[in-house]
Amino acid sequence: MENKFSFSNTTRKHFINESQNKVFDILVIGGGITGAGIALDAVSRGLSVCLIEKHDYAWGTSSRSTKLIHGGLRYLKQLEIGLVKEVGTERAIVHKNARNLVLPEKMLLPIVENGSLGYYSTSAALLVYDFLAGVKSKERRKMLTKRSTLKAEPLLDSKKVSGGGLYYEYRTDDARLTIEIIKKAVELGAVCINYAEFINPIYENHRFAGGDIKDGITNENFEIRAKQVVNATGPWVDLIRKKDNSLKRKRLQLTKGVHIVLPFKALPIKQAVYFDVEEDDRMVFAIPRHGKTYVGTTDTIYSENIDEPHATKEDVAYILKATNYMFPKLNISISQVESSWAGLRPLIYEDGKSPSELSRKDEIFESESGLLSIAGGKLTGYRKMAERIVNKVVELHNIKNASKCKTEKLALYGSDFTSDKEIRNLIIKLTSENTKHKITVDIIKEWVYRYGTNTTDVLELYKHFLKEKKDAELCYQLAEIQYCLENECVLKLEDFYIRRSSKMYFDIKRINPYINEVAQLVKAFHHYTDVEINKQIENVQYFEKLALTFKN
Ligand code: FAD
Repeated sequence: MENKFSFSNTTRKHFINESQNKVFDILVIGGGITGAGIALDAVSRGLSVCLIEKHDYAWGTSSRSTKLIHGGLRYLKQLEIGLVKEVGTERAIVHKNARNLVLPEKMLLPIVENGSLGYYSTSAALLVYDFLAGVKSKERRKMLTKRSTLKAEPLLDSKKVSGGGLYYEYRTDDARLTIEIIKKAVELGAVCINYAEFINPIYENHRFAGGDIKDGITNENFEIRAKQVVNATGPWVDLIRKKDNSLKRKRLQLTKGVHIVLPFKALPIKQAVYFDVEEDDRMVFAIPRHGKTYVGTTDTIYSENIDEPHATKEDVAYILKATNYMFPKLNISISQVESSWAGLRPLIYEDGKSPSELSRKDEIFESESGLLSIAGGKLTGYRKMAERIVNKVVELHNIKNASKCKTEKLALYGSDFTSDKEIRNLIIKLTSENTKHKITVDIIKEWVYRYGTNTTDVLELYKHFLKEKKDAELCYQLAEIQYCLENECVLKLEDFYIRRSSKMYFDIKRINPYINEVAQLVKAFHHYTDVEINKQIENVQYFEKLALTFKN
């Protein structure tokens, strides 16, 4: 019989027990995209790896980015040629390995008077970008006259725009990309444990050899040992280095980036637009997605609570001012903003540089005790960062049986598509097979772009719930949460609403009408008490408020 994949609280308990009786090749601290990428790279080469995450997977920056897999056009301005080339090439690979999650997105770059780029410099920059990133011919840049720019985007101000450039980036769901990497790693044998916080280092012969870990569900402590510990905690990297007494020389500079979400009708753009901010030398994105348009980001030095960045009135005012300047016919107001998120960039401090000037390159720090810390970098470059760090581990420990990096040709979990057409065919097939089950093509599309080939499992659950309940919308949500409980190690309600389904950002109004029924499933699955589940409902409501604090 086929051994069906499952990744639930039962798997997690088994992983906690298993992890205490062995010495792993690698212990990764941090379950964002960087840690997930390292776990997948290592396990696919034959190394034993354990990853721990103090909250949920992608809880940190990896669920709060601009959600683009991009070549980093702006880094050309900073002459970071190597970075543009690497992330540009990676874009194509990440798309190929996760076609349902990383989608081509047409991007318009309007040229405005006194903007950061003129017509000829934009044309040259996009040409260099196409060349460095090895962009395929149908996605190469196209320069537009003023007339065709305004035709491409009639909402732009005809008095300001003098032309434009069209090019392609790729849009993703950062948190889902992270969880699908984790699932693939688990499928191949990695031990991944969420709600497991690294508390203190364990040393053997003065070498960093593991850690005391706190189980965030039971509050019990346990130990994990490894030949090599890798600190991939993004904005928290320096806190772990501090515990190792190795916070010397280079350190992090955190900057905050905020995005706001508008109903699509408030900013009904025909494609994504990457535009100049009038008041400084920055650019922001406006990106349409599933009936909404999100706009961002800001970039400001951050030194407050790392665990809870949020959008302030000033952040939102900055984004709205920039948007209204570029699209003056719309006059968008703060009351139209439906949700927001704020993320922290773990950048490497450089004397005298402003937030936007700091490099996005990743760096590896090696401490005297042997701890490897990786910081900086981008979502887009996660695979290469992982390859570099695992190469280093293999070399440091002279691990003979490790193969070369394999992830270039490794499709992520649920992404076994060989072409974009296969995805469209799956949507058509599932829609026609399910016409009698009260399910819309929009929901099937949403699921295929979220769960890939695993949509068939979600659909089976949906049909099961539909036998008991009449409300199709309720059954959509019950099917999704049940799938995530069984296969994506959802331990708390917020994991589902914020990171597995991004309802908190893109569909906030669909949460409250069904939260009690959804919570009942979570309670039954995990055997939570009434007190525990009510606390989780309160937490979701707290996060709803946090997404809108700037309105108070
Ligand atoms: P994180 O995602 O923050 O993960 C670190 C994890 O470590 C966290 O989940 C945290 O809970 C965990 N952790 C911390 N302490 C402990 C502990 N003691 N024990 C266990 N676990 C611990 N990149 C792109 O390519 N494209 C973009 O469009 C883009 N846009 C961005 C927009 C913004 C506003 C920001 C802030 C960044 C953006 N980036 C983008 C960059 C990208 O998002 C980050 O580089 C990336 O997400 C960092 O991932 P990470 O895994 O290193 O860190």
